[in-house]
Amino acid sequence: MKMYDILDKKRNNLSLTKQEIEFVVNGYTNGEIPDYQMSALLMAICINGMNEEEITNLTISMTNSGSKIDLSELSNTVDKHSTGGIGDKTTLIIAPIVACLGCNVAKMSGRGLGFTGGTIDKLESIPGFKTKLSREEFINQVKNIHVSVIGQSENIAPADKKIYALRDVTSTVESIPLIASSIMSKKIASGAKNLVLDVKVGSGAFMKDVESAKCLASTMVKIGKNCGINTVAVLTNMDIPLGNKIGNLLEVEEAIEILNNKGPEDLKAVCICLASTMNSITNGISYEESFNQVKEVLESGKAYNKFKEFVEAQGGSLDNLVNNPKYSYEIKSIKEGYITNINSENIGKISVSLGAGRLNLNDEIDYTAGVVMNKKINDYVNIGESIATLYTSREIDFNSLEKEYLNSIQFSNDKKEVVLIIDTISE
Ligand code: URA
Repeated sequence: MKMYDILDKKRNNLSLTKQEIEFVVNGYTNGEIPDYQMSALLMAICINGMNEEEITNLTISMTNSGSKIDLSELSNTVDKHSTGGIGDKTTLIIAPIVACLGCNVAKMSGRGLGFTGGTIDKLESIPGFKTKLSREEFINQVKNIHVSVIGQSENIAPADKKIYALRDVTSTVESIPLIASSIMSKKIASGAKNLVLDVKVGSGAFMKDVESAKCLASTMVKIGKNCGINTVAVLTNMDIPLGNKIGNLLEVEEAIEILNNKGPEDLKAVCICLASTMNSITNGISYEESFNQVKEVLESGKAYNKFKEFVEAQGGSLDNLVNNPKYSYEIKSIKEGYITNINSENIGKISVSLGAGRLNLNDEIDYTAGVVMNKKINDYVNIGESIATLYTSREIDFNSLEKEYLNSIQFSNDKKEVVLIIDTISE
């Protein structure tokens, strides 16, 4: 088999066989296929696409390039994946909820990079919390308390890691076959039998419009099913950040508020929907029955107690959990009216500038840093009223961040309709 012939085929919009795809993935991962040929193939895929069979074969080849987590000792395993957003702390809330309902959450999560945060950084902001456990500790914890969340193992889908790095510098990230196979190869290697995908749509997301989000969602659902994983996707709004707090300790604080029946309604609604979908597909019950069970564990405080148990099982403690940043800065409105747009991506970038995220993999995080949005979409604001508070423990030029924040907000005389849960895709 020759890479040149495979390139020629994809350039002519012909489909690649399973053997050809395996040849490419294995050859590129072990260094036999050079970057220039792989770049050409990625660009041809971006332009000509791939059919369902090709995407499934690409996903399987990338999954097989590394180790797979064997969760066969556990029943009712369920995982959730979000395509990335601002203020998305849903895992911290949903994992304990579904763990109360007989689902087993043996989850690997990632760190934040760029303008979106990562669950592992949020968990590590809790003093003492360990995100590295041995396989035995990980499985035993799930057997005992139904939930454990650890950092993603280095050897999960190494082909994806190498291909993603090349996509990043060849303008080939934005391709539905490549995004879908990249996400699903890691999820399949993570071992759960049920999977809920939270596909974000809007200004702060990969998918800026509903049509492309639907296409990505249904591609991933089909790959999941072809690989024996019961997969459902929920499309949720990322035109505005989720919840009011963005940052690591700040997001843990907000997750605890929701688990104590407080906190912002948008975050609560998205968490209830995702948890209800996870519980419904894992336990084979209707969405309505699942929804009622989710509300009960949330409102009774059982989910909060489970979160506490989970944090303590991994060495952390919620006692005396306080956010004590050295500096804070109040942003006051210079306009009057209803807030009708908040550019999520910009708010994410402001949060990174405050120290809450990384631009490079080795950057250190300031766990105390972040943004609290005191006013959100459809709130009426008067001139001089506080719309946000910025927090950091680093010396930072607040004035330039204030300007960026004010430029990220739009006002109008009327409220705007906001749809939080856009669609559910199950086939
Ligand atoms: N997230 C991934 O893991 N892969 C992509 O290609 C895009 C988003």
